[in-house]
Amino acid sequence: MRVRFWGTRGSIATPGPGTNHFGGNTSCVGVTTASGDLLVLDCGTGAHPLATQLMARGGKPINANILLGHTHWDHIQGFPFFSPAFVKGNSAAIYGPEGSSTSLRDVLAGQMEFTYFPVELSQLPAAITYHELTEGIHAIGGARVAAQFLNHPAMTLGYRIEADGVAVVYLVDHEPFSDALWRAGAEQGRIESILHEGDRRHAKFMAGADLVIHDAQYTPEEYPQKKTWGHSTYEYVVRIAAAAGVRRVALTHHDPGHNDHFVADIERKARILALQCGKELDVFCAYEGCELDLEPHSASKPFVTAAPFQASVAQRRFRILVVDDHPDTLAMIVRALDGDYYTIAEATSGQEALRMIGENLPDLLVLDYKMIGMDGLAVMKALRARPDTRQLPVLMLTAMTDEPSTRAAFEAGVTDYVTKPFSIPQLTARVRACLARAQFL
Ligand SMILES: [Zn+2]
Ligand SMILES: [Zn+2]
Repeated sequence: MRVRFWGTRGSIATPGPGTNHFGGNTSCVGVTTASGDLLVLDCGTGAHPLATQLMARGGKPINANILLGHTHWDHIQGFPFFSPAFVKGNSAAIYGPEGSSTSLRDVLAGQMEFTYFPVELSQLPAAITYHELTEGIHAIGGARVAAQFLNHPAMTLGYRIEADGVAVVYLVDHEPFSDALWRAGAEQGRIESILHEGDRRHAKFMAGADLVIHDAQYTPEEYPQKKTWGHSTYEYVVRIAAAAGVRRVALTHHDPGHNDHFVADIERKARILALQCGKELDVFCAYEGCELDLEPHSASKPFVTAAPFQASVAQRRFRILVVDDHPDTLAMIVRALDGDYYTIAEATSGQEALRMIGENLPDLLVLDYKMIGMDGLAVMKALRARPDTRQLPVLMLTAMTDEPSTRAAFEAGVTDYVTKPFSIPQLTARVRACLARAQFL
């Protein structure tokens, strides 16, 4: 399997002398399998040089499988310049997460409306198909592709591609689920010791991979000011990849404010940290033009995560019960979730919530932690003791960011744990992910 980086920049294309080495084009990675199948990961401005190379080959029709993590600009802006789509006989199968308010096709058509671009999507001569994915395992371009939701203020999928005996995992536009990575008192550096269920799932998804391509936009010093923006630090990536037994990590989605000198310094620090982790983890900062040939190795691990289901969350209207004893917070959450997808009910205390659940079982409970009278943990205890609510998905929403509170919540059986400050798109994406997973129960 051959992997080539065509765009390594996050947010906005950043050409110029300061970014010559690591590159200025936004996210795009080409994966070519031994049988010649092409998978394109994201379609930022890096898709333009990729397209130029594909067209220069001539000969056979081009069949591209384009996997979009999500549809923020830096991941789709190269698509209108993907020249194979302008040639009859070529094909492009486009994949992206479902659950956004607009269909994948309409989002791509939107950026090609006449106001912005001279050719409309419907005028492209190539055969283009659209596939909205949820979590699970899919067969794409001869590869086995697992998809799993990331933590970003938009529905965003990470992809694990397995073909030719190797695994490449693409996790771009993601931030840690929790401030603390490890459970207090547990041995650090092991998947089982990870505190937050979301981070643990993230680690399992990349376990044993030959190459992980991961967002590392910010330094640990910058991150506190950029929290909830949906990006990681090299420190998080190195620690989690080392715990997951990953062989090699490419840090990418470089910040537009970081020049080559700055990114090289991130690489140096990431390598020192990888050494300190004591695992044989090779880490580097991805640069445009970087090409890797991945060979199978004997210790290749079998696939470990993602249920082989493709249940859709777009088909029905879900019922959500929101419980918070602060009227302002309650109103804010209800406003955030209010839309076509959900029927929302409200409760202002734990007792009221349990009574309402007894009368009408919701699809998801959004539960405050600290409440006067019966708190969130007591509600969890009551729910998990009853057979009809044992599996009810619960998203705990709280200002309690500390390790003991987080641990207590997961021990009490919450499905997800979201801390303040959070952004509304981040909350809606996490709610959506909870509901998508609940289909599998
Ligand atoms: Zn991005
Ligand atoms: Zn994004």
